[in-house]
Amino acid sequence: MGAALHLAHAEQSATTPERKHGGGGGGGKDFADFADRIYQDDRADAKSRRLLLAFAYVITMQPTDSAKEQFANLRKAIGRDERHRFTDPLRELIEHDRPRYVPPGERSGSYDPCIGPRLRPFKERPYKAEQMSLPARVEQGKRDAEDFRNTENVCGAPGKHRVLEKLPGTGWYRWHWFCQRHRDHAVRVKEQVKAQNEAAPEPIPNAGGLLPCYFEADWVRLYRHYTWDSWEPPVYGVRADDWPIPGKQPVPQRARLRLVIGGSDLEDA
Ligand SMILES: [Zn+2]
Repeated sequence: MGAALHLAHAEQSATTPERKHGGGGGGGKDFADFADRIYQDDRADAKSRRLLLAFAYVITMQPTDSAKEQFANLRKAIGRDERHRFTDPLRELIEHDRPRYVPPGERSGSYDPCIGPRLRPFKERPYKAEQMSLPARVEQGKRDAEDFRNTENVCGAPGKHRVLEKLPGTGWYRWHWFCQRHRDHAVRVKEQVKAQNEAAPEPIPNAGGLLPCYFEADWVRLYRHYTWDSWEPPVYGVRADDWPIPGKQPVPQRARLRLVIGGSDLEDA
């Protein structure tokens, strides 16, 4: 049995020995302190809060040196989800906390409209002006004028070809979509962003990475265990606290991972 999870303290260096059993103070006070920090952490969404609070509860209120027992307690603390009996809430929540970059407006299973240039103004439906009342014609005209295809002067047909654009400095990326008719455009844009994309760094993560801000463990191993074997941590580290915020801090050219101490046995490894 290796060491179970312990509290992490922001001010601790990576070489400070671990504290056992959640520290000297009463477990209840420790838990209240953690809960307070978690509720004030704007980065934590509903799922992250559920996960962080369960970790905090188990580590402060149910001290044990058995990792197996600790993970059993974690599952109890998170609770079952009766609507999704066959999903594993712990796995799902840890996967949700894996450090990663999420591009803006990412939707799964859908594609964005074509951003190729529009030649003629978009009209919602062809209509014969003389068959509409004047107020209806004015309304229709207003709606058409405010349509994104006209305000942004883009084609707006369903996207078919997509082009990746990476930003220099942050490595953040987004997809540009083009329809079949604007295929040539897609090829040109792809050529235009080629050098920029090749020079761009790995994207700075903007999601997940909260567990390592609060608790100490071999997080790379844990994230990998609950996601997939080939999962690799970002070069900026697994801790959301360590990620640079573009525009606010200079982006340091960080080497690999910050050292993590205190391994943890995985419940079924
Ligand atoms: Zn188009």
